[in-house]
Amino acid sequence: MNDEIRVPVSLPLDSDGFLRRECPTCEREFKWFNQEEGDADAVNQYFCPLCGVASPTDSWWTTAQLEYVQGVSGPAIDQFAQDILADAFKGMSFKPNRSFSFGIEAPDALAEPDDMMIVEPPCHPSEPIKVPEEDAARVYCLICGTLFST
Ligand SMILES: [Zn+2]
Ligand SMILES: [Zn+2]
Repeated sequence: MNDEIRVPVSLPLDSDGFLRRECPTCEREFKWFNQEEGDADAVNQYFCPLCGVASPTDSWWTTAQLEYVQGVSGPAIDQFAQDILADAFKGMSFKPNRSFSFGIEAPDALAEPDDMMIVEPPCHPSEPIKVPEEDAARVYCLICGTLFST
């Protein structure tokens, strides 16, 4: 047991399993393929497919995702308290109600539209990315920054 409450935040993927990202340099959006935790390569930076500038792996949040992650942490702790109560009253048709809660409202879930075009870097075909259609002709590889055209 440790006392830390971990807040699992799941961000929505589109139907192909891609996660929306925003480049901290050019502030434009693209998507990368969501790797299971643990099987991602040990890289400490990614290259922006649109401008080719590298940034640390954790700096690619979109504004909406950051707001969502911040907003969801409070309600997750709230839920944690309610789950404990629900467990304690299991089988007694007990429904946790808001009077047991800290009253922190969860933000609306993010929606992820199926936009953009999939491109596969020839140098790293296992790391497909999605970019806006008008940018698909010239794309930088996420992993090594090599410029390629589709
Ligand atoms: Zn960029
Ligand atoms: Zn590459």
